Amino acid sequence: MANIAVIGTNYVGLVTAACLADLGNCVIGVDIDARKIEQLARGQLPIFEPGLEEIVARNLRAARLRFTTSYADALACAEFAFVCVGTPSGAEGEVDMRQVRSAAEGLGRHARKYCELVVVNKSTMPIGTGDWMLPALQRTAGGSGARFQVVSNPEFLREGSAVNDFRHPDRVVLGGADAQALERVASLYRDLSPEPRIIRTDVRTAEMIKYASNAFLATKISYINEIASICERVGADVTEVARGMGLDRRIGSEFLEAGVGYGGSCFPKDVKALAHMASMAGAHPQLLRTVMEINRDMRRLALQKVRAELGSLEEQSIGVLGLAFKPNTDDLRESPAIEIIHLLEAEGAEVKAYDPAAMLAAAAVLPAVELCPDAYAVAEGADALMLLTQWTEFRRLDMCRIRQSMRCPVLLDGRNFYDPREMVALGFRYHAIGRSSQPGCGQGSGTIGSQSADEQDADALRRDRTPVAV
Ligand code: NAD
Repeated sequence: MANIAVIGTNYVGLVTAACLADLGNCVIGVDIDARKIEQLARGQLPIFEPGLEEIVARNLRAARLRFTTSYADALACAEFAFVCVGTPSGAEGEVDMRQVRSAAEGLGRHARKYCELVVVNKSTMPIGTGDWMLPALQRTAGGSGARFQVVSNPEFLREGSAVNDFRHPDRVVLGGADAQALERVASLYRDLSPEPRIIRTDVRTAEMIKYASNAFLATKISYINEIASICERVGADVTEVARGMGLDRRIGSEFLEAGVGYGGSCFPKDVKALAHMASMAGAHPQLLRTVMEINRDMRRLALQKVRAELGSLEEQSIGVLGLAFKPNTDDLRESPAIEIIHLLEAEGAEVKAYDPAAMLAAAAVLPAVELCPDAYAVAEGADALMLLTQWTEFRRLDMCRIRQSMRCPVLLDGRNFYDPREMVALGFRYHAIGRSSQPGCGQGSGTIGSQSADEQDADALRRDRTPVAV
């Protein structure tokens, strides 16, 4: 069993620390956020992640897991240091490396004298970071006699199913120059059952695998959203199209859900960062740019559908169901719902909202939004309702009651979550993404009724982007 320090204890760090402890290792989580560390020491989680609280509690009790703000404390016995700090976007789309630099500084300064520390980069870091990190650690450690190895081990977990993803990864990617260090990190994953497939490669390739994977998944989402836009114009149903495509094993069914686009703390920043790195390296990342553009357009198109129903949004009461960027998380970072709310507010709408897990986080970022105790309170007196995160609990809503309590029964289903025919039968003026509320109703059938000026604007927006006429 190994002694491990985990640097950064939020979504990735906390899952990593708890799951490594659960495998029998002795793990210390380090964070610069003292409040978070105090909370964690009491077994309280700073984030919502299904199944995690129990694992943290179990391992705290067994004394295999503890938390500190002190690098010296965490590194006193550590053989491995997993770096799990944030790598957000900078102003130009580049990666803001301040957290990584400060983590490297802490590791270099406090590594045990005359001992070897394997630094495992789990954060998504720009290509070349591993090569930069080794001399940076050595420089900071000075003449302490501490030795370092750097292994890139990008994380692929998904918020909402992070524990399961850690325990059953599709693959573990390890990149590094030192074969022994790679083996030592690989041995930590051998305790997983079944033993995962391990890809060993060089640092830069490992770093690139992470960016290329996230950019590919984002591309799939933007691709199906492009198809959704075409479906609306030609009278096809994107959900059926995606089902028909996804059954082809070469394509696969995941990440083929049309809607208001991708969000979260990874896809937006990682696609941006890869495009930025590509440009800096002299490449021409035109596909990545289009992926981002389509994603932005999906937010605007959702708004245009509501505007087409209500005319001006000034002083209209708009209810929003779902704020987190996806179900089963409280993470609001780059959430489509947050971006759409900002657009609604800019047009003078009054917004009410509810999310099953993200209300605390929402209070901090949406000061002008009325946060409601449940979906029914959101619908009360609303001129339109927008479903923006597909939480399972929204499936169980009494939609008849929702419809009756609204001032105007406009429902924008930004995730193609409901059955269009059922919603129309209940009396909603129902709009989805890339599908009609009436089967087989032909051209331009993404919504009921004839095309309004706003819908024509939306079409113009798509045409501007896509030179080929559909
Ligand atoms: P986060 O921003 O939520 O958490 C980072 C944590 O690191 C915070 O608790 C912060 O206080 C702490 N921190 C910052 N600087 C520190 C320092 N110098 N020393 C110690 N702690 C420090 O980030 P996250 O969502 O957990 O993601 C971490 C990394 O993993 C990112 O690079 C991200 O792109 C990548 N990733 C995230 C996910 C995900 O679903 N969130 C999935 C795969 C990969």
